[in-house]
Amino acid sequence: MKQKIEALKKSFKSEIEAIDKTKDLEQLRIKYLGKKSPIQALMQELKHCSSDERPEMGRLINTLKQEVSSEIETHHEILQEKELSLRLATEKIDVTLPGRKAPLGRKHPLTQMLDEVIEILIGMGFSVQDCPEIETEYYNYGGLNYPPDHPARDMQDTFYITPDVLLRSHTTSIQQHMMENVSPPIRILAAGKCYRNETITARSHVFFHQIDVLYIDKKVTFSDLLATKEEFYTKIFKQKIELRVRPSYFPFVEPGMEVDIKCTSCGGSGCLLCKHTGWLEVAGAGMVHPNVLKEGGIDPDAYSGYAWGGGIERLFMLRHGISDIRLFTENDMRFLSQF
Ligand SMILES: [Zn+2]
Repeated sequence: MKQKIEALKKSFKSEIEAIDKTKDLEQLRIKYLGKKSPIQALMQELKHCSSDERPEMGRLINTLKQEVSSEIETHHEILQEKELSLRLATEKIDVTLPGRKAPLGRKHPLTQMLDEVIEILIGMGFSVQDCPEIETEYYNYGGLNYPPDHPARDMQDTFYITPDVLLRSHTTSIQQHMMENVSPPIRILAAGKCYRNETITARSHVFFHQIDVLYIDKKVTFSDLLATKEEFYTKIFKQKIELRVRPSYFPFVEPGMEVDIKCTSCGGSGCLLCKHTGWLEVAGAGMVHPNVLKEGGIDPDAYSGYAWGGGIERLFMLRHGISDIRLFTENDMRFLSQF
């Protein structure tokens, strides 16, 4: 039996030396230490030994078992380390390779324009105010000096939700909200989506973005309005701007006017952008109507104010020479990715 143990030890040693993979080592472990292993068979044979021999043989078998087990363990650690370093060597990362570029999103051109407009106006001392897109008839019309059934209401073909509730047709709807809640001086801007029931064409859309500016204080004059506008458009178009005003009618201002700027493309000599007039229409404006001030609880004898507003789409189209307003809402990447 002793010889058998010695022979087993020898064969194990030669086998384990030849092994260079952890998975083969596992096979060897099963072979020598599993239930059907030769060591297990020796244990069975023990009972045929004489009682003198048995304790010594038992000890030898146990020693063999422990040796096999610890050698397998040691070998396993060595192999694992080898395999790991081999893997690291083949999997190494080349940090000098150029990375894969993730496609970057960006702001919609109108959002960019809105951000820019707001930043300029904040720089000029105005604060941003938010007002609802779903509005009552009062804030959109009644409170802004639109008499009931006045034809001026038809100038802005409105989406009514109920006879009294509508989608705001202009951001001018901010005015009575402000006057109700804040005492002058009021120096604010409101910007956002407006809705009108118009036929969608290259020049008009059912929804668009507007900016409205309102300044109410003591001794606000018409020349304040013109100076503010000149400064604003100079910053937007990044060139010295020449203004022109034409009388116009908006119920909430008196006097009311259309503001034009000298064509930024041709400098006034006439081109396609300005339709050969030399001028670009950019905004409606005027001095806040005394009735609107009174409605807001502000004394028109003590205070005056100006208001002006314009379309963000139009501003962007003029600045970049775009002729079709529908491009903003068609999600055509060829258009959007240019800005
Ligand atoms: Zn022109």
